[in-house]
Amino acid sequence: MTEKSWDESLVADNLRRIEEKMEAACVKAGRKREEITLLAVTKTVPPALINAAIRGGVRQIGENRVQELLRKEPELELAGAAVHLIGHLQTNKVRQVAGHVHMVQSVDSLRLARTLNDAYAARGETLAVLVEVNVGREESKSGALEEELPALLEGLQALKHLRVRGLMCIPPISDEETGKRKYFSQIYKLFIDIKAKKLDNISMDVLSMGMSSDFEEAILEGSTMVRIGSALFGKRV
Ligand SMILES: *Cc1c(COP(=O)(O)O)cnc(C)c1O
Repeated sequence: MTEKSWDESLVADNLRRIEEKMEAACVKAGRKREEITLLAVTKTVPPALINAAIRGGVRQIGENRVQELLRKEPELELAGAAVHLIGHLQTNKVRQVAGHVHMVQSVDSLRLARTLNDAYAARGETLAVLVEVNVGREESKSGALEEELPALLEGLQALKHLRVRGLMCIPPISDEETGKRKYFSQIYKLFIDIKAKKLDNISMDVLSMGMSSDFEEAILEGSTMVRIGSALFGKRV
């Protein structure tokens, strides 16, 4: 067997293991498996392995960088999958990425939102976005702070070529289970509070939280989309 086909069968095995864990977390949480979407995080992963995941049933993939997405895109079997941008997006990259993604999960400023809105207006299209929240208030991370959300959401309501679908977060690294769950439940509460306001143009049906090390906790705390990289493709090189 070549090394390549071994890697590909590993992806299928990992996918099966992740599915089992997701199902178990759903049972524990009293939720239905269909309520949660698995997004495969593909940064640094070669197209052949990404295609193996798509053939294995993954329907959503997430890239962090515009350049890397555009480089790999011609080799991806995207008929079966939607692409999400999950990394920080600079306004000067917006024009390049427009038309290549199904959703941008990292909107954290009105300046970025307006630039995206203009790019999609020019195409006569609408883009689904998530607002990224810096739930741990970390200097090193992007994302809007909780107190910035009202003004940001108000501004987003006026941008008719964006459709706000929910929130995304990357909580601080923490060893204790309770540490992560505290952040997850905090953002779930925000999500529910915003949803209850029934704001125009803001639907709040996607809560993107949970990664390889903590997706089960995230499911227990109300996540509707888990973003999984290393548990699916192996350790990043
Ligand atoms: C890399 C990354 C992930 C996935 O991380 P893993 O720990 O490998 O599952 C999820 N979300 C974002 C925004 C990432 O950059």
